[in-house]
Amino acid sequence: MVLLLFGPPGCGKGTQSPLLRDKLGIPAISTGDLLRRESEKQSDTGRLIDSLLAEGRLVPDEMVNGLLEARLAEADCSKGFLIDGYPRTVQQASHLNQMLEGLNFPAPVLIHMDVPDLVLIGRLSARWGCPKCGAIYNILSKPPAESGLCDLDGSMLTQRKDDTVHTAHRRLEAYKQITDPVLSFYTFPGVGQVIHVNAQQQPDGVFEEIKLAIEAELLAPVRLRLSS
Ligand code: AMP
Repeated sequence: MVLLLFGPPGCGKGTQSPLLRDKLGIPAISTGDLLRRESEKQSDTGRLIDSLLAEGRLVPDEMVNGLLEARLAEADCSKGFLIDGYPRTVQQASHLNQMLEGLNFPAPVLIHMDVPDLVLIGRLSARWGCPKCGAIYNILSKPPAESGLCDLDGSMLTQRKDDTVHTAHRRLEAYKQITDPVLSFYTFPGVGQVIHVNAQQQPDGVFEEIKLAIEAELLAPVRLRLSS
């Protein structure tokens, strides 16, 4: 099964992704993480990606497509995978479907995590994360037990460069202009399956809703035929 976690920045993709990875036993790939890793390299590409990320702009399609293609070629992806943060443009969506066809995977199931803008801005500017284990906190709704420290390994929490109110607005704008058409792309018959989830609720509730939707999806006769 190929799952795409899709939604605006701050909708909770990064929180749901490891939960689904553990539940389904498939790797979870975040293009944001792939790009952040690349941006740390002291190369022209690394520096370009670093500046685009800091400004909240999308990285050019060819760069993201290339990084993802290399990741999907790794052995752990052979039975299926979940992607968080990709595709973000129609070009990426079309490229992904071609890659999936080439790798003999069924059309993807896109999970659309919907949250109102005002909630997103609040969530993004209050988000802190553990640089060591990746745990995500929110100083308003999910603070760590000890201020500034990760509950799981005690590391000092950090804030992403692009999690400021100003950059959050820009990222939401980019999402609406460029990413919304991706949803329309996947509504064409045979291109993919779209599942809408209310991501404004607590993470546990979101996870339950996604789980139920995936179970229903796996039981659907058309999907069984596609993936057999
Ligand atoms: P994320 O961790 O998914 O919020 O992504 C962080 C940043 O990485 C985004 O604001 C973009 O600058 C960049 N990025 C992540 N995924 C993509 C993608 N599929 N296409 C273009 N840029 C991306």
